[in-house]
Amino acid sequence: MVCNEIRKDYLMNRWVVIATERSRRPTDFVKSKADSAKEKVCPLCVGNEALTPQAVLLYLNEKGKIIKDADNHQPRKKNWIIRVVPNLYPAFSYPLDGSCNVDRRAVNLVNAVGHHEVLVESPNHDEDLSSTKLEQLINLINAYIDRLDTLGSKPYVKHVAIFRNYGKEAGASLTHAHSQIIAMPILPRVIKEEIKASRNFYDKNKKCVFCEIIENEKKGPRLIFQNSGFVVFAPYASIQPLEFWIFPKKHNSTLLALTKSEKNLFAESMKKSLSALRVLVNDPPYNYGFHISINKKTQKYYHWHLEVYPKLSIWAGFEKSTGIYINTVPPEIAALELSKTIKKIG
Ligand SMILES: [Zn+2]
Ligand SMILES: [Zn+2]
Ligand SMILES: [Zn+2]
Repeated sequence: MVCNEIRKDYLMNRWVVIATERSRRPTDFVKSKADSAKEKVCPLCVGNEALTPQAVLLYLNEKGKIIKDADNHQPRKKNWIIRVVPNLYPAFSYPLDGSCNVDRRAVNLVNAVGHHEVLVESPNHDEDLSSTKLEQLINLINAYIDRLDTLGSKPYVKHVAIFRNYGKEAGASLTHAHSQIIAMPILPRVIKEEIKASRNFYDKNKKCVFCEIIENEKKGPRLIFQNSGFVVFAPYASIQPLEFWIFPKKHNSTLLALTKSEKNLFAESMKKSLSALRVLVNDPPYNYGFHISINKKTQKYYHWHLEVYPKLSIWAGFEKSTGIYINTVPPEIAALELSKTIKKIG
């Protein structure tokens, strides 16, 4: 097995996975007509379970009851409502043969040891999170929590990224409704920066900076939606048009401890805001990702949340060469339009 490597930039705290396992030749990037054609056989659809690796988690519908299981049956079970499988071309993988031995003296190199999974969100190919039943959204949240719990407790895992790419322009290579989960041996820069800044704020003010942000945003011009457990707002320095963040009002560094009613309220917040996005700009591609800290020491000052980035602009030369973004939609306008849409669709 070839090991992927995570390499650090010469100077900056910026890491890149050099994915040899999914490596492509430069000429593979030449656009072909086949690129735009819909995949002929969807490996994530019911009946095609044998086209993926064995599921590590299944939610089965057994006479109306949800039973948790994994693929250790032949033939593979088809009555699933959620299915989590290892990615066929993982960016991060766990070699059982111990073949990943990095040069431990290298400070700018780590083996890409971890897990990369695909979470199939529904047996329905075209299931959409903005129109799906609240029950199924809660199943999805439960499955995120189950995988976060399992992967986050492995000794070599420092961070679990849970994210969703929707639409080809947002990087989804399969059209079947799915999310991805990557458990990795390094802490991503974005999370590290949030943790560091919130720790500094806590040391100075003895309170959570995110709790304070929520307090302000829930009565300000960037509020999109709130219920008793969650608040959705367009962040003050949104880098993308119509970007929004979903925060739990109750302070916690991960979503492992969500109660049943909190999961309900979270599902409602996701559904309302994603529906508004879909209606307002005609079903745009988007990405979302959870910001979670699995390090127990950060519990006091880190506050988990979900960040949603609609893919409505293209980052080009300026953004790529400077790391500074240009956003042509002020978050106050984005919030106004999205909240109006939520009220309109009810
Ligand atoms: Zn499908
Ligand atoms: Zn907080
Ligand atoms: Zn964040």
